[in-house]
Amino acid sequence: MKNVLCSLFGHEYEVSKNVTYHVKEYRCKRCNSEMTIDGNGKFIPLTPKFKEINSVLNRIHNKRLERGRKILMVNH
Ligand SMILES: [Zn+2]
Repeated sequence: MKNVLCSLFGHEYEVSKNVTYHVKEYRCKRCNSEMTIDGNGKFIPLTPKFKEINSVLNRIHNKRLERGRKILMVNH
């Protein structure tokens, strides 16, 4: 369902999830429509397919962070 304010003024998105440093998921504060950023930096609707891609990206991202921490510990 579309919010009247959203169709008049556009959506008011806020970040709902940080997927990676560059990819985030956004949700409209008024109508809860969800958007994300694809690999090309385009703002696109967050479809179930992209939700899945983002969750995979997020897992890889977190693994990298973990590995980074371990490497730091080894270097010390
Ligand atoms: Zn909206």
